[in-house]
Amino acid sequence: MGAPRPPLTLPLVAPGVRRIAVPLPIPALKIVNVYLVEGERGWSLVDSGIHTAEAERALRDALATEHLAFGHLRRAFVTHLHPDHLGMAGTLEAAGVEVLMHAPEIRSARYLWSRDYAALDRVFAWFERHGMPPDVDRGMRDAWIAMGDLVDPFTLVPVDDGATVDLGGREARVRWTPGHTDHHAVLVDERDGILFSGDHVLPRITSNVGLYPYTRDDPLGDFLDALRRVRGLAVTRVLPAHGEPFDDLAGRVDEILAHHDARLDAVLAAVGGRERTAYAVARDLFPVLRSAHEERFALAETLAHLRYLERRGRAREIDGAPARWAVIG
Ligand SMILES: [Zn+2]
Ligand SMILES: [Zn+2]
Repeated sequence: MGAPRPPLTLPLVAPGVRRIAVPLPIPALKIVNVYLVEGERGWSLVDSGIHTAEAERALRDALATEHLAFGHLRRAFVTHLHPDHLGMAGTLEAAGVEVLMHAPEIRSARYLWSRDYAALDRVFAWFERHGMPPDVDRGMRDAWIAMGDLVDPFTLVPVDDGATVDLGGREARVRWTPGHTDHHAVLVDERDGILFSGDHVLPRITSNVGLYPYTRDDPLGDFLDALRRVRGLAVTRVLPAHGEPFDDLAGRVDEILAHHDARLDAVLAAVGGRERTAYAVARDLFPVLRSAHEERFALAETLAHLRYLERRGRAREIDGAPARWAVIG
């Protein structure tokens, strides 16, 4: 007989907020943080985790340490449509939880995760236009469908930018923070100075900001503007979806802004005096890509930087098959 296992407890990361580490089948990320929020009138979640058997078990076991099951939760808020955040929302809904998401993000989610994959056909053609080899593109397509299978069918309740969400008696305000996705939203608990930052502000890595045929015109411009807006919030605790909670929001925002300045310079240098495809530039900027997901993120991120430069008169796209890019001036 071994010693009994000590009881699991969830780390308290802010007043009344516990962190649940939900595993991900994505090597670069490993974990998504789901936050369990305790209010005077009940419990809520921020984000839900991807829907693998392992992730569902991790979430159920974590809730059980507080003597909770899915059906005891009043409400959940999902920051954006990615599978690591939205994945288990439908399972929560089936248990009676009201799951909220920023209204236009729900429309995007219905489009991206529809099982007819119309979005994917557009992305496939778009990536080939930007120089992605067809075999890499096919791998990207298969990986996308496999990811989509880890998102439950969902209904979701729409909330607007600026609305107040009641998390069991605690108020949190929804703020639109576009860039990582078009209608990503964070939650701000103004009373306690807590920012549930989703994937908008992360402590160690920078959020992937990608240009796709279905996104807003200038996702990187959106993202940098949204970072400058959240920088001034009266927040003393940041609870990100990946990595450790941290306190210095303005300091981290400044680092991310500086990172993108350097990346924009690197993109200009990689294009140089030539006409190059976005894929060729991406391969220079991201020499090590370990999966179809990473190939996709690298190309979409490079395109977001090129579009940002294009909209500010510093680069131009030359039509063709494939399309190429050149620096202006
Ligand atoms: Zn995300
Ligand atoms: Zn994420």
